[in-house]
Formats: sequence, C-alpha cells, structure tokens
Amino acid sequence: MGQAHLFGRSTGGDIPVAVGGDGCYIIDSTGKRYFDGSGGAAVSCLGHSDATVAEAIKGQLDRIAFAHTGFFSSAPAGDLADLLIAHAPAGIDRVYLVSGGSEAVEAAIKLARQYFLEKGEPKRSRIIARRQSYHGNTLGALAAGGNEWRRAQFAPLLAETSHISPVYEYRGRQAGESAFDYGQRVANELETEIQRLGPENVMAFIAEPVVGATAGAVPPVEGYFKRIREICDAHGVLLILDEVMCGMGRTGTLFACEQEGVSPDIVTIAKGLGAGYQPIGAMLCSAAIYEAIASGSGFFQHGHTYMGHPLAAAAACAVLKRITRDGLLDNVLDKGAKLDARLNEVFGQHAHVGDIRGRGLFRGVEFVEDRETKKPFDPKRGVAKALKKAAFEAGLICYPMGGTIDGVNGDHVLLAPPFIIDDGQVDEVVDKLSLAVSKVL
Ligand code: PLP
Repeated sequence: MGQAHLFGRSTGGDIPVAVGGDGCYIIDSTGKRYFDGSGGAAVSCLGHSDATVAEAIKGQLDRIAFAHTGFFSSAPAGDLADLLIAHAPAGIDRVYLVSGGSEAVEAAIKLARQYFLEKGEPKRSRIIARRQSYHGNTLGALAAGGNEWRRAQFAPLLAETSHISPVYEYRGRQAGESAFDYGQRVANELETEIQRLGPENVMAFIAEPVVGATAGAVPPVEGYFKRIREICDAHGVLLILDEVMCGMGRTGTLFACEQEGVSPDIVTIAKGLGAGYQPIGAMLCSAAIYEAIASGSGFFQHGHTYMGHPLAAAAACAVLKRITRDGLLDNVLDKGAKLDARLNEVFGQHAHVGDIRGRGLFRGVEFVEDRETKKPFDPKRGVAKALKKAAFEAGLICYPMGGTIDGVNGDHVLLAPPFIIDDGQVDEVVDKLSLAVSKVL
C-alpha cells in the first residue's frame, strides 16, 4: 500500500506521510518531527494529541456516530450551539452546523438571500467583499472572495460580486494620513459601492476581521469595522464576518470581532472549532434573521448530509471547553506577545522584511526586496514558497502566501501555532524561521 492513487492537493512530487502527533509536533513516517507553526492553516489550535478531545469523540462514537438531521438532532449538536451562543457576539442567537469553512460561507450567503426574500425585498442579491480576501473554494464562497489567482479559471461560473479595497495599513495608508483616517477612507468605499449598485439591490458585505490566507494576519485599523457597521445599518445591508481562520481564540478573544467592538448579523467559523480533530464549521446568525425565516416559510432552503454531525459536534464541544476553561486564551495573548517581540527582535531590521503584524497567535511577516521603498520581490523568485520549503526542511511548518494582490506581489509567511505553545517553543519557531530566511534571502 502506498500513495500512488491518491489525488492530492498538487499532482506529482512526494510529500511526507504524517503518522503521528505529539503536542505541537507532527511526526512523519521516517520519524522526523515538525513543529506545527501554522496549525496547517490555523486549524490545529490544540496541537496533535489532545486527550480530552479524543475522549469526547470516542465517547460519542460508543453512543451513536450519525443520525440524519432531517430526522434527529443530537446532544452534542445542541450542547455546541449553547456553548457557542454563550460566548458569541451580542445579538447572535442561532447556530447552523456544517463541515467546514466554505460550507459555512455558502450557508451565510444563502441565508442572507433567503432573509431578504422572506422580508419581501427580493431585489437584494448583491454581495460586496474586499479585494484582499479569501472566503473558500466552493463556487459561492469563491465568487465572494477577492483572490484573483484562485478565481481566474472559474470566472465564468462565479456570481457577480463587487470588491472594494482591503484595509491593509502597510501598503494602503498614505503619507501624512492617520491610521484612523485611512480606515475611514477605505470603509467609505463601501458607502460608495452601495450607492453605485443601489441599496435596494445589496444584501450583504462580507469581510474577515483579521485577514488570513491572502495576506498573512493583517489586522484592521481602529474604527474601520465600526464605520463598516454604520454603513451597513444605514442601508439595511447585512454584515457577514468570516472568522473561519481568525476566530475561535486565534487572536486572543474567542471571536476576533470582539476587539473591534462590533457585532455582525452573521458570523462564520470553522478551522479552530474542530481543531483538526473533526471536520466542522458553523454559521451563526442573529435572532432577527432566524425569526424572519421561522415566522415566514419556516424552512431554510439549504442543508448538507453531514451537517450537525454528532462526532464533529462532540469534538468541537471539547475543543471549546479547552479553549474557554483552561486559560488557553491567556496563553494566546501571552505567547502571542512573545512571538511578536521575538519576530521584531530577529527580523525587525532585516533588509528584506517589510512588515511584522497580527494579533494573538496569528502573526504575519511580509518579505520585500527593498524595505525602504516596499518594493516586492519579482513573483518569479517564488520567495514565499522557497521559505516554506526551507522551513519545512528545518522542521518548521509555516504557511506561505505568494501571489499578486492589487498588482503588488505579496510574499508573506503566516504563523498560527497551537494555543498550547510554551516559551521555549516560541523561540524554536523564530529560530527555525530565521534559519530558513537566512538560506533563502
Ligand atoms: N474563509 C476563510 C477566511 C478561510 O481562511 C478559509 C480557508 O482557508 C475558508 C473560508 C474556507 O474554509 P475551508 O477550507 O474549511 O472550506
């Protein structure tokens, strides 16, 4: 038995076979240990050998593995919804369980559409998103996302979406402009776009509070999301926050939007929710949206076979309890601050490091050819990919992002280590990344 018939993420090229997990480490079939510095892509927030999550899955497996949600609910699904709502942003009241991030975003888009139909506003169908964004790979989520490289070959299949500027202080803030004014300026693009489309045609604005996969842990500036919320409210447009990557404690609060002082109408989560132990995601919505459907057609016209899967829900309950009750959010803040400090110490003056940013244990480093002019590397050099490879050889998993955003090549590395990381391991991550950088640049 081997790997010959597996259709993997890329064709060709051998990749190691993971055979074991030990805390923050993944072990391959040759016995080599890799520090999981990015949790895959911000997934493995509890590392790879959490006994409480494993026990929760086994316990549920002994009771019942699956019962179709068209006929039954399950205890873990109900418990998970209660746990999530106990910690959710104000106004969020209902939880729709799915199997991953793209599914959560698809459900959010369809719920927004059905909400307006039920309310008697059938013209509202347009989504506005941002250029520097990724919301998933299924067709609805891909249409919402603003990553040209991912969208290009499927463009004829994608619903028309408007993309406004991202909030990306390192590249977008003009000389002499305050961070606050910059945030208001780019937020106001939403107002302009809503007016251009006609408010009666717009159903939702979708954004990640802290951008992950397209640009490497880019946080918003102060006041940006408050202004976005105001604009949405003024026009009756729903605010969907995509916390698939930045949610579930990754930035130091369970929901990243808590730090912005705003509540969305719909919020999507996934990755850290199951922490990699089970595939699970969720779409959470306000009572008002739920009530519109409950008192209207009484049926959200959506659904997937594996939604609300009992094993996945049991795993997520255990993950949430670990995060919220075992002081892990404090560790995210503490080790996140240490990681930031160490990255600045080692790379702060590096000739090819332009920006070090992020929140909690969600950190990004942007590499440039010239730090004075912020000139990016020629995309043909493939700097981010080379860094991923060199780090991997050194026994560190970090998540690279290359590709062009708004005509600027971005070479970023994303770090999103498990919340159980200790001080020595923060040093290990930075030392191994430094070794990789010294080999590539
Ligand atoms: N939304 C965001 C913000 C993401 O980062 C991702 C995945 O990286 C997704 C949605 C899609 O999630 P999944 O890969 O679980 O379908």
